[in-house]
Amino acid sequence: MPEEHHQPDCIFCQIVAGTKDARIVYQDDELTAFWDHYPATPVHMLIIPNRHIDSMNKVEQSDAALLGRMLLKARDIAEEMGVRQKGYRLLINTERGGGQSVFHIHLHLFAGDHLLAVHG
Ligand code: AMP
Ligand code: ZN
Repeated sequence: MPEEHHQPDCIFCQIVAGTKDARIVYQDDELTAFWDHYPATPVHMLIIPNRHIDSMNKVEQSDAALLGRMLLKARDIAEEMGVRQKGYRLLINTERGGGQSVFHIHLHLFAGDHLLAVHG
């Protein structure tokens, strides 16, 4: 990963690089998906680009395919977790006012009981 795409003090960059532990469920040369450390629902994964992007506000037109891949990967993981048919929620908190606490863009995948009561 080129230096400008990896921020050493970013916990999600560290997970991508394998220097911080995470329950990774999928990884390729563009994306990494892992269990949220503090799951809010029975299924709660984060899908991130390997390249550091601070937030949705830093996404550029040339990142459109990458964002599309994140969405499709989330759907595929929902399938693998057996929740695709029943349903799930995809969410990108953006900036502090939008609830973002980790500033490496991430797509939440929520599913399971209580879903309607959480982040609803
Ligand atoms: P957000 O509030 O949208 O920025 O979401 C950040 C998410 O990252 C929260 O749901 C946290 O539980 C999760 N999180 C924080 N640190 C870690 C970590 N080291 N491994 C996995 N998930 C984490
Ligand atoms: Zn990062």
